[in-house]
Amino acid sequence: PSTAAASPFDAHESAVRSYCRSFPALFTRAKGSRLHAADGRSWIDFFAGAGTLNYGHNPEFIKRRLVEYLEADGISHALDLHTAAKAAFIETFVARVLAPRGLDYRLQFTGPTGANAVEAALKLARRVTGRSGVFAFTGAYHGLSLGALAVTANRAKRAAAGTALGDATFVPYPDGRLPAEQTLAWIERLFSDGHSGVELPAAVIVETVQAEGGIHVAPADWLAALQALCRRHGVLLIVDDIQVGCWRSGGFFSFERAGLAPDLVVLSKAIGGYGLPMSLLLIRPELDRWAPGEHTGTFRGNQLAFVAGAAALEHATDTGLEAEVRRKGERVAARLARIAALDTRLAVRGLGLVWGLDCSALGDGFAERLSARCFELGLLAETAGRRDTVLKFLPPLTTPDDELDAGFDLVARALGDLLR
Ligand code: PMP
Repeated sequence: PSTAAASPFDAHESAVRSYCRSFPALFTRAKGSRLHAADGRSWIDFFAGAGTLNYGHNPEFIKRRLVEYLEADGISHALDLHTAAKAAFIETFVARVLAPRGLDYRLQFTGPTGANAVEAALKLARRVTGRSGVFAFTGAYHGLSLGALAVTANRAKRAAAGTALGDATFVPYPDGRLPAEQTLAWIERLFSDGHSGVELPAAVIVETVQAEGGIHVAPADWLAALQALCRRHGVLLIVDDIQVGCWRSGGFFSFERAGLAPDLVVLSKAIGGYGLPMSLLLIRPELDRWAPGEHTGTFRGNQLAFVAGAAALEHATDTGLEAEVRRKGERVAARLARIAALDTRLAVRGLGLVWGLDCSALGDGFAERLSARCFELGLLAETAGRRDTVLKFLPPLTTPDDELDAGFDLVARALGDLLR
């Protein structure tokens, strides 16, 4: 039945579609951490829209707000006019996220997608510094529009665009292949060596945890040293918190564990609360040097996403989501350690509720087969990393303990089937 249902896609949708190939089914309904298909099958969702559905599918506390808003004929589209929904979102974000952390940022609504926010960050960094280069890291993922792609280190994703992607210089991420301090020495050298052939960049863009890159967690002291290095040289630090922000890593911002105050921060995915499109650039107030209208567009703030996003922030702070993520993270860490003990070639990395099971020592293709077997058994988990050798787990942060356990039971079963 799923093949018959897939026919309109095969007949009429571009070959560029991707995730549907790993997870072939016709999905119809979803609730919490469960996805349902037309043919009656269902899955536990440890993919969660690549970290977009931090509060699960169709959470009641957000759905109620959205329905009330729609019933009252709340504004659905307003360009960037001042609306009550936007005012409420800004006030909630400042009161619930920024103020308690002593952080001061201006909010720029950059459009629906993460890549939109990255584009804005790169452009603003160039405007503010008058320099054009950017340093990005090996393994980085920042999106696939041309500017964001220029700082994305994935050869396959870059191939279609050719090589002339702008002034990005890739420097090594502390992913275990080089000692972390050597990666910093490398950057320091390029910043200060007039003969390296590399100009001082406008900015360094970094993910504190590389998610698409295979769940590599940068050490907190490395992140702090990177910020200090950037400050010493007048280079802006951009943190991309699109996938691991919004409590995914524990704190609301993934950089809290390193005590950073980045110059620019990009957020998207879960910030829209209900899977609704929103991306945000946070700007240190003194860097907000845009001229009015200089970076704008039609979709600069989805009103429903404002309503859902504000409801999510209120709920998360009222219910102590941060402590819950930390507690669940420890539970997952313990469970994954037992799973990794099934074969000495497996490794586990992660924090909070972003985890990876590194299967690279089992050969290319193993993690993809594991993902496929998980899908057959009733679990959605995507692969990540160079050559897709890491199975990635991003359950909704609200997944109950018994469902987390059930999901990892399926991973253990799938692994048992493949290792047999
Ligand atoms: N940055 C990071 C860290 C991401 O994970 C992603 C999406 N996977 C992006 C940027 C790009 O976001 P989008 O796909 O919405 O353009």
